[in-house]
Amino acid sequence: MALLDILIYPDPRLREQAAPVTRVDDGVRRLVDDMLETMYEARGIGLAATQVGVAQRVVVIDVSEERDQPRVLINPEILEATGEASGEEGCLSIPGYYDDVARATRVRYQALDRNGEAYEESAEGTLAVCIQHEIDHLDGRLFIDYLSELKRKRVRKRMEKRERQLGAAS
Ligand code: ZN
Repeated sequence: MALLDILIYPDPRLREQAAPVTRVDDGVRRLVDDMLETMYEARGIGLAATQVGVAQRVVVIDVSEERDQPRVLINPEILEATGEASGEEGCLSIPGYYDDVARATRVRYQALDRNGEAYEESAEGTLAVCIQHEIDHLDGRLFIDYLSELKRKRVRKRMEKRERQLGAAS
């Protein structure tokens, strides 16, 4: 397994539309394993392939306290979304920034697992929010897109400043 570089906003690759996986082969499984390792290392609860520069519809999630319940969502699709609530979100591609976003509170979704087997699951709470957040990534959408233009500009400035500082330090 290998750690992957997580793209940081405003990297234009975060805006790419990811393509469906046509076959779950060893290459996809390696990507899944590397994404899981990268997500755990970064202490995130979810990671989309778009965030590591791979424009394929692959997502990994683990919302458990013990960090021992990895979920693999290949070609995920939301079948049904109900309820609405606002909650604080963050993103590994927008480090250090959190804000409130309104999402469905319950979703039913389908996806393929690491073996290419189709499954369906209902989710609520943090898992439901995470699934919506990660599927957005696959469509090139970020949680800050739901915020006001002014807030988005501030986030962009902050990330660009961060990049300059990191660049100067290395
Ligand atoms: Zn994210």
